[in-house]
Amino acid sequence: MAEIKFIVQKFGGTSVANAKLREQVAHKIIEAKNQGYSPVVVVSAMGRKGEPYATDTLLTLVKDGVSPSRELDILMACGEIISGVVLTNTLNQHGYSAVFLTGGQAGIITDQSHGNARILQIRPKEILRYAREGIIVVVAGFQGITGSGEITTLGRGGSDTSAAALGVALNAEVIDIYTDVEGIMTADPRIVKDAKLLESVTYNEICQLAHEGAKVIHPRAVEIAMQKNIPLRVRSTFSDAPGTLVTSHGEVMENTRIGNYGLITGITHIPDITQLKIFTKDYPEVEDVQLKIFKAMALAGISVDFINVHPHAVIYTVKDEVADKAAQILNNMGFKVEVLSGCAKVATVGAGMTGIPGVMAGIVEALAKEKIQILQSADSHTTIWVLVRKEDMERAVRAIHEQFKLGQ
Ligand code: ADP
Ligand code: MG
Repeated sequence: MAEIKFIVQKFGGTSVANAKLREQVAHKIIEAKNQGYSPVVVVSAMGRKGEPYATDTLLTLVKDGVSPSRELDILMACGEIISGVVLTNTLNQHGYSAVFLTGGQAGIITDQSHGNARILQIRPKEILRYAREGIIVVVAGFQGITGSGEITTLGRGGSDTSAAALGVALNAEVIDIYTDVEGIMTADPRIVKDAKLLESVTYNEICQLAHEGAKVIHPRAVEIAMQKNIPLRVRSTFSDAPGTLVTSHGEVMENTRIGNYGLITGITHIPDITQLKIFTKDYPEVEDVQLKIFKAMALAGISVDFINVHPHAVIYTVKDEVADKAAQILNNMGFKVEVLSGCAKVATVGAGMTGIPGVMAGIVEALAKEKIQILQSADSHTTIWVLVRKEDMERAVRAIHEQFKLGQ
């Protein structure tokens, strides 16, 4: 039998939100089928919070703040199941044979961390069986099953990961991530009106952007696709444009090579961060203060970021949602702590900035012009981060984007 030419097509929540949009989705799938591909379609739940079958809406059915559990995962898994069955029905109505599989039925095996499970293995037997018969396979994204049969979910952006893992397991020709924007851009187009589409980029560049908050694709998905060099495309459900092609050898982005600044891929943002400051000089009698603070955070499973350790003070950030817990722990240890919640991290990302002077100066200049205070900063060879107040976040992204002329 001739080898099957797989394509994985993932459609995000906004792409399958209503019947009219699902027609466009069906069109994309049928088009691939008619081009000789065997489509494996991964769907997210329909719509965003407020719409009846969206994941966030399902979550409101149970009491606020419920912690991850097997029941919660089963509830959340319903969104993708509903969405997948409905899309399968749409395809059938167009005269195409299609079948729906839950994550478990599709052989997506995960570990047991409910709410944030990791894919361990794909057993594609069922998918292969249907694909050999020429049947389009629709798979519920964001979910898997443990070795002992428990339903799990993969965390925010998990459908991207489902798609990438299936693409690798099936050795697909390409993994298409369809969404509500034209592709991966130099900044979130909702914030920066003249954000520019990145046409051809490397896995590494996109991985960095994704890790720093560009939520258009999940970083784990990029890492998985990269393992087997399966090309990823991020593109719009609502147009025929090619979108962003992510491979191991992206072209040098001539367009983002900016004068003396080297190569900047894009600007990202992450809101809802709290800055904590402890004046360790006030506790001369306590031994190993710094070590005690970070050990306590680690013990409580609180991840820390933006760490600045000075002789007189320790400053770092945590997510807003764990800020109270972190402050409580510090208080219990006898430390006074200054808490500044509602901050945001803005990152300027680009491998080309290594060793190029002036990038930080450019950022400081851009923010000074806008009278935005930098609360903290940090840098690596590929990224410069600044912490700002959340209300300044969008202006900061726009100002830095403008400073480096990324829209041109
Ligand atoms: P989906 O439901 O299709 O997975 P997401 O909401 O997860 O969609 O991701 C798409 C959104 O990502 C866009 O609507 C856009 O606002 C946002 N986004 C953030 N950063 C970027 C970026 N650099 N390029 C493109 N989109 C971005
Ligand atoms: Mg997404």
